[in-house]
Amino acid sequence: SNLKKHFPINGGVLGKRVGEVKAVDGLSFFVKKGETLGIVGESGCGKSTTGRLILRLLEPTEGKVIFNNQDITSLSNSEMRKLRRDMQIIFQDPYASLNPRHNVEKILEEPLIVHGIGDKKERKRKVREMLEIVGLSSYHAKRYPHQFSGGQRQRIGIAKALMTNPSLIIADEPVSALDVSIQSQVLNLMEDLQKEYGLTYIFIAHDLGVVRHISDRVGVMYLGRLIELTDSEKLYRKPLHPYTKALLDAVPIPDPDYKREAIEVSGEIPSPSNPPSGCAFHTRCSSCMDICKSIRPDFKEVEPGHYVACHLY
Ligand code: SF4
Ligand code: MG
Repeated sequence: SNLKKHFPINGGVLGKRVGEVKAVDGLSFFVKKGETLGIVGESGCGKSTTGRLILRLLEPTEGKVIFNNQDITSLSNSEMRKLRRDMQIIFQDPYASLNPRHNVEKILEEPLIVHGIGDKKERKRKVREMLEIVGLSSYHAKRYPHQFSGGQRQRIGIAKALMTNPSLIIADEPVSALDVSIQSQVLNLMEDLQKEYGLTYIFIAHDLGVVRHISDRVGVMYLGRLIELTDSEKLYRKPLHPYTKALLDAVPIPDPDYKREAIEVSGEIPSPSNPPSGCAFHTRCSSCMDICKSIRPDFKEVEPGHYVACHLY
């Protein structure tokens, strides 16, 4: 609810604060239990920061995160540690999050030790069970991260996230570093696990293609804000925001009957430390009107469940 994260920019010889980057600048949305919410945007739009704010790996500048009816932004560190069992993250590069000096058994055991779950024997059993669940084998337990392929390493990353039986998983570009053929295997695994364990996913990606099939709803971010959010089916069939239309133009569609109006986006994404006035997209929007340059459009519900921030609607 109204989530913000502003990072100071320090400069000069004295390192004084010279400005700030509004990485996340007023986000409000909900995720339903058991659904997958895709969050999409170009790099620097604040999507990873959003994921970290939800898990409180970063403290928000303003706003709240409410999880199972509890405001977790006001919890103490020790209360938060208990809750972390229930919320886990999968990273883009599992290699960076897996300790290269530890074998898989030790890597997967760690979350159980941190949360005081089970004795040594139970932990070892659970590690072997989990390896099977993510499509690896118990004989992989004694191997080290470098002995696996990228796809297998992401399976280990997923296994690690699942060790504590979480209900919410934030997946931050979990397949972006993988070959296309391997991407679909990992996405299928994630879908199977979701069905089996009733998991809720927030799935962060930089293009709309990847999240299309896995997401129930998709939100599009631009410069720290959501600009459109609706059911997946609707977003791909009938996008409203000019930026969403432009992003979709970059995604090939398999449906030959579906025609999309071509939308151009000119120029680079502006710096989040100096965002344009009014609608932050106005410098690149081919539908820009006078009002867009001075007044920021509200993020409002224009049809049931379809939210958009644009003066055209
Ligand atoms: Fe384009 Fe104006 Fe809509 Fe922004 S508010 S996306 S500039 S039409
Ligand atoms: Mg990122």
